[in-house]
Amino acid sequence: MNTLPYRQTKIIFTIGPATNNVEMLSKLLRKGVDVCRLNMAHADHEWTRTAIENVREACRVVGRKVALMMDVKGPEIRTGPLDEPMELERDETFDFLLTPEAPAVTTGIRAVRVNYPSLKNDVGEGDTILVDSGLMRLRVEKVMEDRIRCSVRIGGQLGSRRHINLPGVHVNLPALTMKDRADVECGIELGIDFFALSFVRSGDDLDILRRFIEERGSKAQIIAKIEDQSAISNLDEIIQASDGLMVARGDLGIEIPFETLPLVQHRAVRACQRMGKPVIVATHMLESMISNPLPTRAEITDISNAILEQADCIMLSGETTVGKYPEECVEVMNRVIFSVESQSERTINTELPLKTPKSLLLRSAVTLSDELPHSSIIVFTRSGFLARTLSALRPLKSPIFAFTDVEPVFQNLLLYWGVEPFLMDFKDEDPEQTIQDAFARLRSRGWVESRNHAVVISNVLAGSKVIDTIQYRTIP
Ligand code: PGA
Ligand code: MN
Repeated sequence: MNTLPYRQTKIIFTIGPATNNVEMLSKLLRKGVDVCRLNMAHADHEWTRTAIENVREACRVVGRKVALMMDVKGPEIRTGPLDEPMELERDETFDFLLTPEAPAVTTGIRAVRVNYPSLKNDVGEGDTILVDSGLMRLRVEKVMEDRIRCSVRIGGQLGSRRHINLPGVHVNLPALTMKDRADVECGIELGIDFFALSFVRSGDDLDILRRFIEERGSKAQIIAKIEDQSAISNLDEIIQASDGLMVARGDLGIEIPFETLPLVQHRAVRACQRMGKPVIVATHMLESMISNPLPTRAEITDISNAILEQADCIMLSGETTVGKYPEECVEVMNRVIFSVESQSERTINTELPLKTPKSLLLRSAVTLSDELPHSSIIVFTRSGFLARTLSALRPLKSPIFAFTDVEPVFQNLLLYWGVEPFLMDFKDEDPEQTIQDAFARLRSRGWVESRNHAVVISNVLAGSKVIDTIQYRTIP
């Protein structure tokens, strides 16, 4: 019997010190996480390898699979490592060092390194430099050969490798840095299913990553993380060039005025649905649960809002990397998902352009199934296209049970709204047997019951021709 009831919204968690062990990972899998994200800002290749081994071991233990997403950092600027945190004082003069040779302390002025030597070409006097999610704010006073001299406007505690934001500044870092390339190569070797690219600014950025991945023979999909103003300005071409979008609210909320964030999220989610691409709402969904066992009311409402917007996935970051209550966070998300999905009133996605007879056929399947009580849509797919389109159509209540015999396709479908994928051999010479096998599999795992309705989408052989069909069936 399956232990997890069907739900449409998927859950992504980020693996970190708090969760990188088989025992905790097994708990999260049992609670129903769908995708595991590895954040390469904080991971070296050895750590990545061990983490993935642990995830796979937990999958074996629990008998349930998750997809793997590697988050590569793209043009991200960070401060260097520090042995001890530094307390930045208001009005203090402070230097960002651009070269490894630059002396750290000159005439009593404290300093930290940054990983981006060309910062001096991108900022000028009067610009703002934000550190650690905007917690500290500095004003550029003087751009020097080996350092940027600033005055601290808002102080705070500076830890190791903190993230720097330059609101409104176009950073001349390549979309895919040397570190990113090495990370992606490692990810391909380890069988990553999704690469999420940070700070995507245009469709071209994604093309570069796609070429890099394809040249190395990987079938991984690409998620564009929108994190700044240029991504918002080029949203449509970014969605077009990607396999999905992540609304990365952490950085986005620093780079653009935060009061615009809710509408930007809303528009980005809508745009993805119009274009039939999956979308992830990320960051700070349960931030308070990093240290508390219960969420705030505002967090519950934020999660509900993402579910009502019909985002494909909601995501956990710090909550599961360093938080004290990773398991509870997944539990909270589950409870909100079940509550909201069972009550929400909506229509199927009518904005999706359905250009081919095949996609129109899929829409008919969705309407048919939604009108029947206790009905599900059962689809057989080798490329994933049929299942992805069904997901984009957003059936009202019919689960999409997607059978494939291609493992990367199975892994990819784990991310998609409403899709419950199954990996199963197809009997090419006997399609009816394949359908019967699927029924048996669904029944044995408790997904369907005998005499339930089902709308089956499958190829059948008519003479020597293969034709697409929808069939009305009852579960034997
Ligand atoms: P990050 O991306 O966690 O890699 O910074 C997500 C965000 O910025 O919201
Ligand atoms: Mn980010």
